[in-house]
Amino acid sequence: DPRLQGISDAIRVVPHFPKPGIMFNDITALLLRPGVFKDAVDMFVERYRGMGIAAVAGIEARGFIFGPAIALAIGAKFIPLRKPGKLPGNLISTLQLEYGTDCLEMHVGAVEPGDRVVVVDDLVATGGTLSAAIKLLGEPLPLLLFSL
Ligand code: 5GP
Repeated sequence: DPRLQGISDAIRVVPHFPKPGIMFNDITALLLRPGVFKDAVDMFVERYRGMGIAAVAGIEARGFIFGPAIALAIGAKFIPLRKPGKLPGNLISTLQLEYGTDCLEMHVGAVEPGDRVVVVDDLVATGGTLSAAIKLLGEPLPLLLFSL
């Protein structure tokens, strides 16, 4: 797809951020270019429209930039997967699913039985965050309940 080159070129690579040795891919540079930002969203919309997707789940924080735009365009609900302590009410947490990954939380009942869900984030590195998100979304029982 010819749009991929433009998207790739618009992502700024910052060496040694946030710590020495890390090559950080900064997608905020892409957001400053509306045509390229639209291309990035459109490519996912084209891939998932008409596939019976019930929900788009966005991983905090940069999944909150792309996820809602994709959800609205394909007619799906948006589910924020948040860092701990941000969501009120009854939650399910990756804390109980897996140790050693960054914790994510979502509302119990956000995913309903049979829902097809697309997970959105800006970048996959080791895949740990994505795999934690998938486990969270697929968990049928609320393992950890908070009532505020
Ligand atoms: P993983 O869990 O796959 O190792 O890391 C992916 C997660 O860390 C994503 O949530 C992503 O936002 C963040 N991340 C890791 N490296 C980068 C990077 O170079 N650029 C950006 N924008 N996010 C990164």
